[in-house]
Amino acid sequence: MADQGRIDGRTQLIGLIATPIGHSLSPAMHNMSFRKLGLNYVYLAFEVGNQQLEDVLTGFRALNIRGCNVSMPNKTKILPYLDEISPAARFAGAVNTVVNENGKLVGHITDGIGYVLGLKESGVDIKGKKLTLMGAGGAATAVAIQCAIDGAAEISIFNRDDEYYDRAVKNVDIINNEIEGINCKANVFRLEDLDQLKAEIATSDILTNGTGVGMKPLEDQCLIPDASYLRPDLIVSDVVYIPRKTKLLELAESVGCKAINGLGMMLWQGAAAFEKFTGHEMPVEYVKEQMF
Ligand code: NAD
Repeated sequence: MADQGRIDGRTQLIGLIATPIGHSLSPAMHNMSFRKLGLNYVYLAFEVGNQQLEDVLTGFRALNIRGCNVSMPNKTKILPYLDEISPAARFAGAVNTVVNENGKLVGHITDGIGYVLGLKESGVDIKGKKLTLMGAGGAATAVAIQCAIDGAAEISIFNRDDEYYDRAVKNVDIINNEIEGINCKANVFRLEDLDQLKAEIATSDILTNGTGVGMKPLEDQCLIPDASYLRPDLIVSDVVYIPRKTKLLELAESVGCKAINGLGMMLWQGAAAFEKFTGHEMPVEYVKEQMF
């Protein structure tokens, strides 16, 4: 193994804590970037659930590890064990990146940054845009908060009548009343109100699926009933990246919309975390060549 050859007495450790973890692309993405840039880090995945979180962070402090990524089910539960939390992570109520700053564990969320950078890579600037966003779970919340911070003019959030609807209401309240220095208006609606959905999409620049609909086991489903909800100059994006083309993106392409899948979000959230860990830019083009 190439990595074993380069590990020495100065190698710094970065971890990923989640369960299940075996499918994660993060170790490959970060380790190939360290190798490419000649950086003396190694990235390992640790199967960790909520029960072990406190002990794990105590261990990380004791070992002075450089940091970790955090995935399900730990993203919201880790907050009480950290010393400091970035504003975006505090508003989202979730952390996906922890950086050890001289013994102080600082929590960040880079999922929303990844979404905005993924749009940018596809030639779309969120600044001044109106976004219709379906969902209010972990991914959608990070998207909503970051888009508001990065200058979206308006965000209309739709969620079905389930346990996430209250979070949709909360996200709208945070954007309208808590985040200082932004100029974004947020609205909340029930996804069951299809007339309202059509009306909001009609005045939006971007439509985004922030739910798991389109991904297994819901890969045959799409939250937009038919093509009459879309128009060619609408940008349609999806946080789902397996499959690369969800039913929503297929429908969008059939209408002539620019269709953007969740791969960019995944890649750029990793790139943003990489920069926080190492101070270096991830070699994104190289990672794309190697992985996708
Ligand atoms: P979550 O469980 O936190 O949230 C689920 C959301 O989906 C809620 O808003 C819920 O109301 C909605 N939902 C679920 N089933 C629905 C249905 N049948 N109809 C309408 N709405 C429904 O999940 P999450 O962690 O936010 O993940 C959502 C998706 O985002 C997953 O597919 C995940 O793979 C993807 N994701 C992608 C990235 C990326 O980097 N591209 C990052 C995180 C998550």
